[in-house]
Amino acid sequence: MSEATETKDIYKPTSPNSKLDFASVWEYASAPQDASFAEVKDRYELFINGEFIEPSKGRYFKSLNPATEEEIADIAEATQEDVDNAVKAARKAFEGEWSSISGKERAKYLYRIARMIQERSRELAVLETMDGGKPIRESRDVDIPLVAAHFFYYAGWADKLEYAFPGRTPEPIGVCGQIIPWNFPLLMLAWKIAPALACGNTVVLKPAETTSLTAMKFAEIVRDAGLPAGVINIVTGAGQTGAEIVNHKDIDKIAFTGSTNVGKIIRKAVAGTDKRYTLELGGKGALVIFDDAPIDQAVEGIINAIYFNQGHVCCAGSRLMVQEGVADKVIRKLKDRLETLIVGDPLDKNTDVGAINSQQQYETVNKYLEVGVEEGADIYQSKCSIPEQGFFIRPTLFTNVAQSNRIVQEEIFGPVLTVQTFRTADEAIQKANNTPYGLASGVWTDKGSKIFKMGSSMRSGVVWANTYNKFDPTSPFGGYKESGVGREGGMHGLAAYTKI
Ligand code: NAP
Ligand code: MG
Repeated sequence: MSEATETKDIYKPTSPNSKLDFASVWEYASAPQDASFAEVKDRYELFINGEFIEPSKGRYFKSLNPATEEEIADIAEATQEDVDNAVKAARKAFEGEWSSISGKERAKYLYRIARMIQERSRELAVLETMDGGKPIRESRDVDIPLVAAHFFYYAGWADKLEYAFPGRTPEPIGVCGQIIPWNFPLLMLAWKIAPALACGNTVVLKPAETTSLTAMKFAEIVRDAGLPAGVINIVTGAGQTGAEIVNHKDIDKIAFTGSTNVGKIIRKAVAGTDKRYTLELGGKGALVIFDDAPIDQAVEGIINAIYFNQGHVCCAGSRLMVQEGVADKVIRKLKDRLETLIVGDPLDKNTDVGAINSQQQYETVNKYLEVGVEEGADIYQSKCSIPEQGFFIRPTLFTNVAQSNRIVQEEIFGPVLTVQTFRTADEAIQKANNTPYGLASGVWTDKGSKIFKMGSSMRSGVVWANTYNKFDPTSPFGGYKESGVGREGGMHGLAAYTKI
């Protein structure tokens, strides 16, 4: 592309009042999503053995809307006793009614749940956005459609398991304890529950403390779908409730998605027991841009890779590596594009970047911004206005960073990108692989041969080529190194929930 048609030249303001000066002049009229139809109760109980019951100690905690800091609802805190009751219900269901149901019948339940999710998709999207801060456009167009897709996909496998493992006899594992994080609340639930049920297991699931709402709506769907009591149990609570699940003696498998730190605690806890486990942990994905890449497309890819869901994405591309010849151009275009991102009310359909999920995460990300500056990196933040109330952080990038910097090595889990350069493919591979993580990465180039070289040399579970953040239930997902153990999704996801 010639310089004359570059994006920079297109929206460079020609006068102070130019409509093309996004930052100061061009504003979209707000387009708020109507949230009034989404029913929210004042209080949510535990879902155990097909019923909504009060927690044994009668304790509740608050779930906030991170965009307004207002309280949405009280959520039950499950104790050891409650977790034990949930496990007993799951065991009883596993040994009773559920095990006598054929794969074909299990599929019917899964299809029913998938269709009910579709029917209630707008309500679920609104709640996901209110509780977690992600833009409604993302929860509406990405999260919830993928949730339904996962249930449809695994419904299709439920009566065909012997074809997934030809010549062998797959059997369910038993009672599965599942613990999920706050970045994709309902989607992580779907990744865990859909394959578990398809393979004939029963489940005790704990959502993350800050985002329990859609899991409790899902419990209503499960009840309305007529699933036998005890097959799915949902216990809300904080880390301690998660630990009660991990340490419960009658759980056969732990499926965990969350931070590497908690993943290590869980791995120690299950060591020496006969519990199976899969761990989906943190990441620090590299985005490698070669000088022959379609630059504008690559810039869009970078924006998607790091600012999607405020950067609260385990597979986020948080480290940009750009070949020296195009570095200036890519950084300039990237900064221009940053200025066009709309940060604010997650329920507004124009919003590109919503609220940071919680005060705690807001503080963590801000801490890393300080660390970056202290390490000597140059910080660039978009000049957009952000709401006074709520947890918002401007899209940020750091240039002039070193491979050893903490902001390059540690997962920030926010809208923060570091930018490095490279000269040769081998240098890019070395830098890309030089973190403790290995979850996802991306490469942009015109040459298929370079894609193959990078794809086979970068130690990450996923390598996207000329795109990023593409998800599909048929595709396995998981990490190398400290990014985790095991795979979810696709046929690999069935193997994680069966004994062969
Ligand atoms: P986290 O602090 O590890 O929490 C994950 C879940 O574990 C939450 O439900 C949490 O409860 C619970 N938990 C906390 N301490 C526990 C303990 N000692 N024993 C058992 N459970 C415990 O992670 P997060 O901050 O919620 O999520 C962000 C992390 O998840 C990032 O590192 C991200 O990369 C990772 N992630 C990975 C994937 C993947 O597929 N690889 C996908 C999404 C996210 P509370 O909510 O009450 O703390
Ligand atoms: Mg919340």
